[in-house]
Amino acid sequence: MSMKPRTGNVAARRRASRGTAVVVGASLSGLMTSLALSRAGIDVTLLERATSFPRTGASLGGVTERLLTRITGRERSSKDITAPAADGQTWTAIHARLRAAVDDDPYITLRHNARVTDIDQDACRAWVTTTDARTFEADIVIGADGHRSTVRRAVAPGHPDATFAGYVLWLGLADESALAGRHRWPSNVDILYRGDDCLIGYPLPSPAGSFTPGSRQIGFAWYDASRNSLLREEGCVVDGVVHHTLAAQDVPDATLRELAVEAGDLWPQPWRGVIADCLERRAVIGTPIAEYVPERLVNKRLALVGDAAHVPTPMTGSGFSMSLDDAEAIAEAVAAGVGGRPMEQALQDYERARLNSVRRSVQSGQQFSRSFAGQPV
Ligand SMILES: Cc1cc2nc3c(=O)[nH]c(=O)nc-3n(C[C@H](O)[C@H](O)[C@H](O)COP(=O)(O)OP(=O)(O)OC[C@H]3O[C@@H](n4cnc5c(N)ncnc54)[C@H](O)[C@@H]3O)c2cc1C
Repeated sequence: MSMKPRTGNVAARRRASRGTAVVVGASLSGLMTSLALSRAGIDVTLLERATSFPRTGASLGGVTERLLTRITGRERSSKDITAPAADGQTWTAIHARLRAAVDDDPYITLRHNARVTDIDQDACRAWVTTTDARTFEADIVIGADGHRSTVRRAVAPGHPDATFAGYVLWLGLADESALAGRHRWPSNVDILYRGDDCLIGYPLPSPAGSFTPGSRQIGFAWYDASRNSLLREEGCVVDGVVHHTLAAQDVPDATLRELAVEAGDLWPQPWRGVIADCLERRAVIGTPIAEYVPERLVNKRLALVGDAAHVPTPMTGSGFSMSLDDAEAIAEAVAAGVGGRPMEQALQDYERARLNSVRRSVQSGQQFSRSFAGQPV
């Protein structure tokens, strides 16, 4: 494996490699797991199918500056220009902060344009193959490849798919400057219920990290169980499985108009104005919600973390913290294992530490989903 130059604290912390891992998926879970494994002495090859990541309107509550410092092993620097120091941050800002730490870690090699199609193992090693027929092998392979995980098919072939929970989240993000003067700016998260719909609205720092009045952003997540036939027509949900988000350019004009009318009827200001602004700019995406209660997290030298391992509804607000707990638990188990115990036993320790807890978290979210949308059909 080719190494980046060894610089800074990471080099000082590490002496020799204690094993190797391939991590599939370089979103939040994959980045956090790679950092935790590197810290435990494991050399990581991190494979990501995408070339770059889009800006998204999703926000993650409870992700504090202190927590990010713990995960990345370093304090916020001037390089982290998109990472605001606030509790409640955009997905984009958190991703940028984790990515900067991975880029600085000489023991993690990140490869983009690497879509994994096959996963296999024998008694001594595990390996993956990408669409361009490259093979990457290591002591263990970890799937951090999200709710439609390919690695999950090799870990849990009898239970490979997350299922549609029966509703969509309309997500949007507006700049305060576009709304200034029109409404009083909210200072906290609002959760509103009107009839069959639910709206979560949240203020966020600007992309540069500022909470200064006039420069902030405001996001919303509108839970809607009435447009499942649209999701099926657009191929977002097929046979009860979520395939993809409805991109902003694919939301039909008629749906945009309907949402504008419904927002006017359902939601008070400032949320009505925020939604109207996003709809006018066609800056709204529809994310069908998936759920997955795992029966296992590990198959010998293969393991799952994050949304590949378990998918709770966003209403639980727990996907990020569950992913972080996975990353830390797997690194702890592997670090204990490299002292002489086989990697397979270390991964079993990881499953024992996490399985019951993550099952309970997803199931608690399913209670909300069933009361909100009924049994999915
Ligand atoms: C709308 C929404 C709102 C949410 N809100 C919250 C919240 O408020 N609080 C909270 O804690 N959590 C929330 N979550 C959940 C949280 O975002 C996730 O749990 C967390 O980001 C972990 O995701 P992940 O990295 O496991 O998966 P993903 O973000 O799905 O990443 C998977 C990665 O794997 C890559 N990949 C997939 N297949 C392959 C392949 N075959 N080969 C190579 N790469 C591959 C993908 O390109 C992607 O980069 C929300 C989720 C959604 C959908």
